[in-house]
Amino acid sequence: MRVLVTGGAGFIGSHLCEKLLNSGESVVCLDNYYTGSRTKIEHLIGNKNFRLLEKDLTSPFDLRVKRIFNLACPASPPQYQKDAIYTIKTNTLAMINVLELARKNRARILQASTSEVYGNPLVHPQTEDYWGNVNPIGPRSCYDEGKRIAESLAYAYRLQHGVDVRIARIFNTYGPRMDVDDGRVVSNFIVQALKGEDITVFGDGSQTRSFCYISDMVAGLCLMMDAEGLAGPVNLGSTSEITVLDLAIKIKRMTGSSSRIKRHPLPEDDPTRRRPDIDLAKRKIGWWPKVDLDAGLRETIKYFEKRVR
Ligand code: UDP
Repeated sequence: MRVLVTGGAGFIGSHLCEKLLNSGESVVCLDNYYTGSRTKIEHLIGNKNFRLLEKDLTSPFDLRVKRIFNLACPASPPQYQKDAIYTIKTNTLAMINVLELARKNRARILQASTSEVYGNPLVHPQTEDYWGNVNPIGPRSCYDEGKRIAESLAYAYRLQHGVDVRIARIFNTYGPRMDVDDGRVVSNFIVQALKGEDITVFGDGSQTRSFCYISDMVAGLCLMMDAEGLAGPVNLGSTSEITVLDLAIKIKRMTGSSSRIKRHPLPEDDPTRRRPDIDLAKRKIGWWPKVDLDAGLRETIKYFEKRVR
């Protein structure tokens, strides 16, 4: 029986498909290429255990699967804000379709949720029992509220239909295979530094994030899927917090770039501080990130060097 990865041609999805194939699973990668792309999974095509399906999840569908990783959703702020209604549909209509598929197949489903469910958090670091501080009508709400209703739907299916759901709250993740024009901070800064363009720090750069390397994130997702009786939500992310300005300085130094660091207006509702409490992940699945920021950035810079030059 197969494992379905929705959003399998995306940044995290493509690494996940690869890891599952390497551990002997039969993988169906589903994507509509809204933000994902075939180039991310090109190297997997031809593997007899890999099947690629081009599909939009907002219409119902059928498939025989035993496990589902539901990753399909634009995740970068400029991408998810481009068509807010579509982002909401992905987290409601598509979420219901994927949960229905899980129900029919009696499949286990892992929902890729996000630190954005905490909004601009008033509790620091963020623990899973914190309910968050989300602006329901702001520019980020299509994603924040979308991911919150998706969690709510997952729990409703668990309660009403006994679906084996699990919710992973993914914090900022970076690494090779991010798009050059993804729009998120790590890829923006590296690409700008490599091209000698201004590094665009939004606001005064004092806002913080905690960046998790892709291989750690994918390992965490697999451990959560394998764990028995763990519905979550469980935070997955790095606990090493850095300001956006310090990240800009670090990337400028690591790339040996002559770029200038230039300030731009801070986007509305941009969270001020973000760092996960990962005690639950440590205790329940024995997971914590192993790759530190410098090592992860080195690999990511190498990847973008090939893309940019
Ligand atoms: N950011 C920035 N310059 C950029 C892109 C992002 O200063 O070119 C900031 C953004 O305002 C935020 C942080 O970097 O405070 C992380 O942004 P990102 O879009 O990567 O993800 P978020 O964590 O906000 O969803």
